[in-house]
Amino acid sequence: MSIAGQVKKRKRISKEESDGSSTEKINHLLHSYLECEAVEFRKNLLEWFTKNKRDLPWRQRAVQGSLEERVYSVLVSEVMLQQTQVNTVIAYYQKWMAQWPTFGDLAGATPEQVNEMWSGLGYYARGKRLQEAAKEMSKKTIGIPCSAAELQKSLPGVGRYTASAVASIVFGEKVAAVDGNVIRVLSRHRVIGADSSTNNTVNEIWKIADDLIDPQEPGKFNEAMMELGAVVCTPKAPKCSECPVRSSCLAYKSTKVREKAQLSLKCNPDVPDIESVPGCSLCLPVEEQLDISLGVLNYPRKGKKAPPRKQVSVVWILQKCTSDDDVEYFMVKRPDKGLLGNLWEFPCHVVPPERLTSKEVYADDILKEQHGIDVFEVQSTKLLGSVLHEFSHIHQTYVVFHGKVEEIKSLLTSEQYQAQQWISKTQFETAAVSTAMRKVFALLDSPCHQSNKILGKRRIERKKIKNNSMITSFFKPKNTEK
Ligand code: SF4
Repeated sequence: MSIAGQVKKRKRISKEESDGSSTEKINHLLHSYLECEAVEFRKNLLEWFTKNKRDLPWRQRAVQGSLEERVYSVLVSEVMLQQTQVNTVIAYYQKWMAQWPTFGDLAGATPEQVNEMWSGLGYYARGKRLQEAAKEMSKKTIGIPCSAAELQKSLPGVGRYTASAVASIVFGEKVAAVDGNVIRVLSRHRVIGADSSTNNTVNEIWKIADDLIDPQEPGKFNEAMMELGAVVCTPKAPKCSECPVRSSCLAYKSTKVREKAQLSLKCNPDVPDIESVPGCSLCLPVEEQLDISLGVLNYPRKGKKAPPRKQVSVVWILQKCTSDDDVEYFMVKRPDKGLLGNLWEFPCHVVPPERLTSKEVYADDILKEQHGIDVFEVQSTKLLGSVLHEFSHIHQTYVVFHGKVEEIKSLLTSEQYQAQQWISKTQFETAAVSTAMRKVFALLDSPCHQSNKILGKRRIERKKIKNNSMITSFFKPKNTEK
C-alpha cells in the first residue's frame, strides 16, 4: 500500500479506535503506532529475537543468581556497552565479572585496579562511576532499587537509559530503554526526519517507544530492539531484506515506492511528501529535502556537529637501564578530572599553535622545563614517528620522541600530573593506560623504527631548522594509526 493509502487507512482506523474523536493530530500519528500496528510489531520482533539473539555472557547472568547479582551483572554490561562495540566488551565483561562478581567486590577494589581493568575500553569515567554505584549499593542503606526511577535516583552515574534497561530486564518494569540503536530503528520505521540529536526529538522517541513496548515482556522487547539496531538496522548497511518489522517500516516502504516511480520514469502522484508536514515536530523540516539516493539511510537525521578540533602533542618515551640491566620507562599520572583522567601516560604536552612549526624545539624545551633535563644529556634521541588517535571531539596527533636517560632529575609540576613512576615493559601491558598510549608505545617496536636504527640512528637536528618545509618533511608521519 502506498504511503498516501497508509495515511488514509490510519485516519480511518484512528477514527474507529478513538470512537470518532478528532483526528487533527494525524501528522503525528504517522510517527506513532496504532494499537493493531504495535501488536504486530511486537509479535514479529519477539519471534525474530527468540530465534536469532546472540549468545552473550550478560544475557545468561541476567537470569541467574539473586536480584542484587542480576542488577549488578546487567548494570556492568549496560555501562560497558555505552559507546563500545559488543565484540570488544565481551572479553572485558568476562574478566571484570571474574574479578568482581558482586557490588561488594567492586566496592572493595582500588581506583587504580578499576582503571587497569578498564584500560583500552575508552570513556574511562564509566569505570569510576560504576565503582561509585557499587559503593553506594554496598552501604546497604538504600536496599535494592527496583524501579527505573529509583535506580536513577540512588545510583551515581546511572542515567535514564541504563536505569530503564536494568529495570525492564531484571524487574520486568514496562519502561522503554532508548539508546542509539533504538533511535535509529524508530526513526526509520516511523520516518522521523527531525534532528535526532535534539532533546525534543529524543524525548518524543522515548514516548513512542514507551507506547510500543511489549507489556508482557518489556525486558526482552528492549533487548530485541537494541539487537535489531545492532545487527539488522545498522547505521550504514541495513539488511532490510532480513528485517522482521519490514512490512510496517515506513522508510522502507517510501524508498520502494520512490524506486518504482523512478523506474517508470514518471512522477508517481501517489507519493506524498510525507516527511515535510508543516507544524509536525518530528517531520523533516519543510526547508530540507531527502536525498532520494540514500533510501532508508536518510534516517535518522543529525544536525551538523562542530568538527573535531585538531591537536598536536609531543610525547617523550624516556627509558633508563636498571641495575640488573632491565629497561624501565618513565610514566606520569594524569589529573583526576578531564579527558583520560587518572590514566598513566608518557610525558605528553600539547604543542601551542604558535609552536606548531617548531615542534622539535618545543619537545626539547619541555624536557628542560618539566623534567630538568637538557636534551644533550639524553642519549640516542630519536623521532619515532607520529600516531593519530581520534577522540570524539579531538583529532589528536602524537609526535613521539624516544631517548635514554640516567634518571629524571626534577619532580613534575603537581598541577599537571598527580604522580610519576618507572615501569617495565611487562608492567606497561597491564597498567592503566589509554589505547592512544598503547599505540604510542607500539612505535618502539614498529618496523619503521627498526629501519631508522639500521639507517644510521638518525639524530634530531635541533639546531638546523631553517624553514618550515624542512620541518614539515621531518615530521611527516611515518606510522599513522587510527
Ligand atoms: Fe531498518 Fe530496513 Fe528494518 Fe526498516 S526495514 S527497520 S530500515 S532494517
